[in-house]
Amino acid sequence: MRLLEAEIDLKALIHNFHTVKAVLKPINPSCRIIAIVKADAYGHGAVEVARALEKRCFAFGVAFLEEAAILRESGIKSKIIVLFDREVEGIFKYDLTPVVFDFKQAQALSKQAQKKGVALPVHIKVETGMGRLGIYNAPCKTIKKIAQLPNIKIEGVMSHLSEAENKEWTTEQIRRFQEIQKCVSNLEINPVFHISNSHGIIYPEALFDAIRPGLMLYGYSQNFEKELKPCMKVKTKIIDIRRLPKGSPISYGRTFITKKASLIGVIPVGYADGYFRKLTNRAKVIVRGKKVPVVGTVCMDLTMIDLTDVPDTEIDDEVILLGESGNEKITAQDIAGWAETIPYEVLTSLGSRAKRKYIKEEAC
Ligand SMILES: *Cc1c(COP(=O)(O)O)cnc(C)c1O
Repeated sequence: MRLLEAEIDLKALIHNFHTVKAVLKPINPSCRIIAIVKADAYGHGAVEVARALEKRCFAFGVAFLEEAAILRESGIKSKIIVLFDREVEGIFKYDLTPVVFDFKQAQALSKQAQKKGVALPVHIKVETGMGRLGIYNAPCKTIKKIAQLPNIKIEGVMSHLSEAENKEWTTEQIRRFQEIQKCVSNLEINPVFHISNSHGIIYPEALFDAIRPGLMLYGYSQNFEKELKPCMKVKTKIIDIRRLPKGSPISYGRTFITKKASLIGVIPVGYADGYFRKLTNRAKVIVRGKKVPVVGTVCMDLTMIDLTDVPDTEIDDEVILLGESGNEKITAQDIAGWAETIPYEVLTSLGSRAKRKYIKEEAC
């Protein structure tokens, strides 16, 4: 069987969680953390990540109901906020906290909550400039209407930043959110306000009562690069090494032709594993502590690498696609740069296809 392994360091995850807390502490120590574990915790495995963070955070955030169901069925008892799902039945079945982004959705939840005889906590999403989901018509009035629905308890009011790296625009989004907050404060419902993702954490005014970090927990942020530890390492093994003369074409389309006698390695990973085709002739991998280039077009299941500068390498040698080895390091940011995408896509793509192995936190 081929090796394609994502090693997930849960100690690094906890470290990153504490880094988030340390950033919050001097500004707003009571700010709660909603740990975002959608998309299988950005490819790190939502169940393991949630187990490691449970009891440390206020709640978990997932995109869809089925993700929450998996967490519940794995014994996760914490609050789970479902960001993007308007299904009603499962919310009650799994004891979840839905994000309401539409009045009709709130009505349907209220109806079911009455039937079940429970008071359902919900977070209401309002539009402030993301242009995706959220109440955009008279948000405060709508919140008031929702607050009056039977068996609905507004526990939170949230929005989402669309361009946190842009200070001016983020300030405007925060201003819009503050305006809604001011109006809602007259309604005597006292919800938890939250707007910030990982990037927004650099703006003290964006913190409100809670934040929703995802990427930062997994070890990535432009602003806190030194403080964070990437949690995911992806490795494979060389399945063949071939000594080819100058002028040999490599892979589909002959996009690479050896310029000299070369040692070409073959690794059993390709775009079907989330190792993007865009990485063709661009990416590097680490072999025996040395960075070597990907050569030729990345195939569906195979990729070629140039081992000429690592002459003593052997079949079955480990190849690091993502992570550290010796003095060398390849980050999700590096891969994202080569593939012209963002680290989010790198982690979700590579992490969800590789076989995961966990480095556990020490029991305390
Ligand atoms: C994904 C997501 C987050 C987390 O974003 P990061 O940039 O990973 O911190 C927060 N809130 C919502 C609504 C999201 O969809």
